[in-house]
Amino acid sequence: MAVALATLTFACGAPAPCPREARPTASEVHSHAARPDPERVLAYVLARSLADEVGPRLAGSEGDRRAVAWATAKMQELGFANVHREAVKVPVWTRVREEARVLSPAPQALAVTALGWSAPTPPGGVEAEIVEVSSLADADALGDRARGKIVFYNVPTLRARDGHGYGQTVPVRFEGPTKAERAGAAAVLLRSVGTDDGRFPHTGSMGRGTSRLPTAAVSNADADLLHRLGQRGAVRVKLVVDARDDGEAESANVVGEIPGTAAPGEVVLLGAHLDSWDVGTGAVDDAAGCGLVLAAASRFVRAPLRRTVRVVLFAAEENSVSGGKEYARAHAAEADRLVMALEMDHGTGAPYETRVVGGPGAARALGPLAAALAAAGAPLSAEAAFGGTDVGPLRALGVPIVDVRQDASTYFDVHHTADDVPARLDPEGLAKTTRVIELVVAHVAGEPVDLGRVPEGERKPRH
Ligand SMILES: [Zn+2]
Repeated sequence: MAVALATLTFACGAPAPCPREARPTASEVHSHAARPDPERVLAYVLARSLADEVGPRLAGSEGDRRAVAWATAKMQELGFANVHREAVKVPVWTRVREEARVLSPAPQALAVTALGWSAPTPPGGVEAEIVEVSSLADADALGDRARGKIVFYNVPTLRARDGHGYGQTVPVRFEGPTKAERAGAAAVLLRSVGTDDGRFPHTGSMGRGTSRLPTAAVSNADADLLHRLGQRGAVRVKLVVDARDDGEAESANVVGEIPGTAAPGEVVLLGAHLDSWDVGTGAVDDAAGCGLVLAAASRFVRAPLRRTVRVVLFAAEENSVSGGKEYARAHAAEADRLVMALEMDHGTGAPYETRVVGGPGAARALGPLAAALAAAGAPLSAEAAFGGTDVGPLRALGVPIVDVRQDASTYFDVHHTADDVPARLDPEGLAKTTRVIELVVAHVAGEPVDLGRVPEGERKPRH
């Protein structure tokens, strides 16, 4: 380790050795030595490039158009063949501004972000008392108590490696506004669907045309504040939201391939979504996924496999899943020749498990990979793969799915926030995950393996 000590730079920022108090322990030296140089982790470099050089890229925005240009150029630079765009009509929602304050009992600003597809408030905003509820069922039981008020959904999101806390809470974001509207409320605030306890509010879709109420997420720290104030008495809040439904625009799924040598008509599809929310630069969601699939596929540019490897960077996942739906519609006739689809949209963490869903022999077909996957930190699980929102419509056509599951323990701290920037990327997690995707692709596109078809009864994705 002495050699490493002399050449490494440590977290204190100074060349080693550090000042005595900041000197790393033996285990830190070891982990520094084992850590890859971020500049050599292609998935990381690509994710950072998309986040930095394109920026926010909500469907139909100027950023979205630049993202499509970025993806096309990167695929060409990486040496992919048949690089092209497939047009997708995307709905457009535009945020103008939002602002919220506690008016009484203790005037102060609240950190809020309008949800995607929120209606605007009247120009002067909505001023009303809040009515706190802790579940969708509570909202159903509101009766007249919420008439003219602001319904405040205070439902925390559990932290979990597999991210299941998000799946439990996100229905509040989609169904909460409609229930509040039915109860006669004037507006909705909801606790951010996120696991942090800070002041970055988390945006996200509430679904287009679901509710006419102005709806904003409040940061988790401010949700706790509203709860504490509410326990002491009435809380009046002012909420201003300015946002527009801007109709439809044209975007694109961006596609590139590494043509197969023996069976080019048989395709292994790797997907991620190119768009992001508008509040951050979407480094983790989902520039990380774009970086992962581009990096893993590019490994085979100079050593093509028997089957075609196709990367699809999908449009408009965040506001409508328009890209994933359109892809499956346009490629339905080819579905039988898609031998596998894999989607990366779970952030930047290290891989911990690999799953498959297909015909009865699918797990057996991946059997020869079991030892290598285990050694790479992502052993094969007996549980069925889920897929993801963009490949869900392909699964519905019977296309087998492989999931490379990443540790999502911290993913929902930054997901859909202004803090989703390259500082949150984990080069080591991305390097390990790239390796697992490469193993899967080398096997499924490199050998005549048959994952079968997803049986009719299992084509609806399950979380
Ligand atoms: Zn995403």
